Amino acid sequence: MKKNESDAKIILNRLGKLSGFLNNLDADASNDDCFNYPLEIIQKTMMFDVSVLYKVSNLIEDRLILEVVKVLDPKDLRMDLRENRKLRLFLDARDKRYVNEVNAFLNKNVSCLNVPGMGCDVIGYVFFPKECGGAYLFGGDFFGKESSVKDFEVSTVEIMCNFLSTLLLKTQFKHQAEYDALTGLYNSRKIKEELGRVLKRLERKPVLSASIVMGDIDFFKKINDTYGHIQGDLVLKEVGKILTLSMREYFDTAGRYGGEEFLLILDEIEGDHTVQIVERIRKKIAATRFAQVNRSGKIIENQFINITMSFGVAQLNSGESNGGGMASAFETLTEHIGRADTALYTSKENGRNQTTLYKEKIKDADISHRGDQYPL
Ligand code: GH3
Ligand code: MG
Ligand code: MG
Repeated sequence: MKKNESDAKIILNRLGKLSGFLNNLDADASNDDCFNYPLEIIQKTMMFDVSVLYKVSNLIEDRLILEVVKVLDPKDLRMDLRENRKLRLFLDARDKRYVNEVNAFLNKNVSCLNVPGMGCDVIGYVFFPKECGGAYLFGGDFFGKESSVKDFEVSTVEIMCNFLSTLLLKTQFKHQAEYDALTGLYNSRKIKEELGRVLKRLERKPVLSASIVMGDIDFFKKINDTYGHIQGDLVLKEVGKILTLSMREYFDTAGRYGGEEFLLILDEIEGDHTVQIVERIRKKIAATRFAQVNRSGKIIENQFINITMSFGVAQLNSGESNGGGMASAFETLTEHIGRADTALYTSKENGRNQTTLYKEKIKDADISHRGDQYPL
C-alpha cells in the first residue's frame, strides 16, 4: 500500500510536469513534434505498452467520434487502432468494442477494464497541445501489474479529465468568440483583427498589395418578408459557403461583417485582379438556385429562389492613402473599410448586382462593373 502511494505521487508529479511541458509546447512546432513527445512521455510515465492519441472529431449528444491520430504500439495489439481510423462511440448504448474508453470518459473513474480478447486496459486521458487545433484524448494499455497502480489510477484519470474539460471549454469559448454561429465564417471582430494583421504585413512588405471587399445581399429584407427568417438564414449560410469555396486558401479570408454583409480580405493581390475574382463570385451567386423552404424550414421540392449581391472593392495601400501614415492603426482600418463601403454604396446606387472598385475620385472613374460588362 505504501509503495502504491509513492508510485501515485511520482506519477502525479510527472503528470504535473507533463502538463507544463504541453502548455509550453512551441506553437510553431509541427503536429508531429507535438504529438510524438507527449505520447512518448506519457507512455513512459504511465507505463503504457500501447499509447494512442485520439482526436475528438465531434461530440454530438450521445455520440463521440474519435479519430486515431497516433499509435505507439510496439506489439500492434489492437486491430482497431490504426492511424486515421474513425471510431464512433455511442455513449449510452455502449459499443462493446470500446467499452473501456466510453466508461472512462463517462465515469471519469473507471479505468481498468479488460476487453475480452484484446487484453486492453485503457486508463487514458487527455491533453490538448496548444495550437494543435482540437481536443485530444489519450488512451493506453498498461503493461505493469494492475494491482500496483489501482490507487492512483482514479486520480490520474480525474486530473486528465478535468484537464480535458477545461480545454474543451476553452476551445469552445475561443471558437464562439471568433466565429459566426450561423455561417461558420469569422465574425466581425475576428475579421477586423485579420485585416489589422494584413495591414501590418503591408507595412513590412508594401510591394505585395492586398484588397478588401465588402459584399451585401441585395433586397435581403424582401427574402425574409416573403419566405420567412429561416429562408433568410439558409441563404446566409449558403452564401457563406460559396464565398469560402471561391477564395484562395491561405491568402484569402471571409467574415460576416454584419447581418447580410460580408467582408473579404484578399492578400497579395492587386485591386483589378480582385475585381475579377469578385465578379466571378458575384456571377456564381446570381446563378445559384437556393433551395426554398417553408416557414417551418422544410425544403419545398423543386422550388428555388435566386438572389444577387453587390460588392465594393478597396485596394489596401499601406500608409499612402492617408498621406504617409500618422493615422492610428484603428483609423487606418476604419478608413479602409469605409472605402470598401463607399464602393459598395456606389454598386447599390447604380442598380445593385455589380462590383465597384474604389478610386479616390469615385464619381469620375468608370469603375463599376455590372452584369456582363466586365471583361473576364
Ligand atoms: P439592399 O439591397 O439595399 O441591401 O436591401 P436589403 O433589404 O438587403 O437591406 P436592409 O438593410 O434593408 O435589410 C437587411 C435585412 O437583413 C434586415 C434584417 O432583418 C436582415 N437580417 C440581418 N441579419 C439577419 C439574419 O441573421 N438572419 C436573417 N434571416 N435576416 C437577417
Ligand atoms: Mg442588403
Ligand atoms: Mg446591409
